[in-house]
Amino acid sequence: MSRGFLYNTSGWPHVLTSRLPCDQHYTFIMGNIAFIGIGSNVGDKIRNCGQATDEISRCKEITVVAQSSLYRTEPIGYTQQDWFINCVIEIGTSLTAYELLNILGDIELSMGRRRILKWGPRIIDLDILFFNNEIIRCEGLTIPHPEVQDRAFVLIPLCEIARDYVHPLLKKSIAQLVTDLGSGTGIEKV
Ligand code: ADP
Ligand code: MG
Repeated sequence: MSRGFLYNTSGWPHVLTSRLPCDQHYTFIMGNIAFIGIGSNVGDKIRNCGQATDEISRCKEITVVAQSSLYRTEPIGYTQQDWFINCVIEIGTSLTAYELLNILGDIELSMGRRRILKWGPRIIDLDILFFNNEIIRCEGLTIPHPEVQDRAFVLIPLCEIARDYVHPLLKKSIAQLVTDLGSGTGIEKV
């Protein structure tokens, strides 16, 4: 049986089974779902996040299914840098996780991203947060993204569009992970 027929079985993320019939069409056609974290803290940050979403949706193997609000967030790690704009999108795609990573890397490059400093300023950052409910640990690709559970700027927008999705390793819903964050998250809706 092809993967596209499996969208309503228990092996799939809960978010799929909670969708309306018209949305199930996406997963039937596209095969996989993924959540992508988008961030920018250089130049016109809101425009950069919008452009990245447009570029992603222009890819013929990808359908953008849902998009969170934009959030203004404080930098973490290297804190001597400008604040960020972050959002999360859900996509349906016929690409594998590796193909998707390459396409996101191409979009980052085409938008002028240069890797100078880990956690440093970036015109655009595109991270694969989840891919179906798969667990992938390879050089260059870790899914679920290892910092999802620690990052308010990922969890809070994600919770808008996938509150019932269960983290495949932690076995907690996104809503539960947001609760676990506690207060003082340094993030506000634009
Ligand atoms: P970060 O997003 O942690 O600030 P970068 O955007 O500079 O760091 O990404 C560095 C590398 O992380 C990329 O070259 C990519 O190969 C790797 N990587 C590993 N897992 C993922 C993932 N789930 N999504 C995006 N990139 C990932
Ligand atoms: Mg990244």
